[in-house]
Amino acid sequence: MSFASSCMDALSHLFFPHVCAGCSSDHVDSVQMVCTNCLSSLPYTGFQHINNNAIEKIFWGRTPIQKAFSIFYYIPDSPLQRIVHQIKYNNASSLGIYMGSLMGEAMKDFFLHHPIELILPMPLHPKKEYARGYNQASLLCTGIAAVVTNQFRDDVLYRLENTATQTKKSRIERWENVAEVFQIKDSSLVHSKHILLVDDVITTGASAEACANLLLKNKAASVSICSLAYTI
Ligand SMILES: [Zn+2]
Repeated sequence: MSFASSCMDALSHLFFPHVCAGCSSDHVDSVQMVCTNCLSSLPYTGFQHINNNAIEKIFWGRTPIQKAFSIFYYIPDSPLQRIVHQIKYNNASSLGIYMGSLMGEAMKDFFLHHPIELILPMPLHPKKEYARGYNQASLLCTGIAAVVTNQFRDDVLYRLENTATQTKKSRIERWENVAEVFQIKDSSLVHSKHILLVDDVITTGASAEACANLLLKNKAASVSICSLAYTI
């Protein structure tokens, strides 16, 4: 490193100190994104090992999902909530990939027992993705795929319309609205495959349900769903 670039490095650390994404403490080394305290307090659900867990129940009677789970509970005002917020709004793409790698570690056993052939992120509206610079679900997929050495593609599912105005609509109208906006690029890419759909936070499950139905309509063999976090 040249003298000039080491000065720039020192200056950037002075003005943008390297801190933990979960608690803002400086108890992290220069490459660590989450401190040891926050890492050990992350609220793992263990749902990937539990049949009929709370996420699977969301989809009961709605769409035939093979397995569904979230890796963490989304607890308000917790380190995980701050991490998710940073991934979404603070241009923290490496943090997204890192959290994906934690998901991958937690899913190793699941992948052994459920041969997933393709990992797909839930698509974001193009305008949102452009404004943010990335789709946070794609970052999670990058991290997962690196750990479980599986194929991930972010160009198979895409989204057309913005559903931001859907809050005033009835549940059925909302479902139809969401269902309309997802499209598939080429159905041969999903044909006869067991697909894992990945999202950041699952709340109502409406978007995941619409994507799962679209994949099944296009002859995917089966669909499983996982998210980083689950809002209790
Ligand atoms: Zn921390």
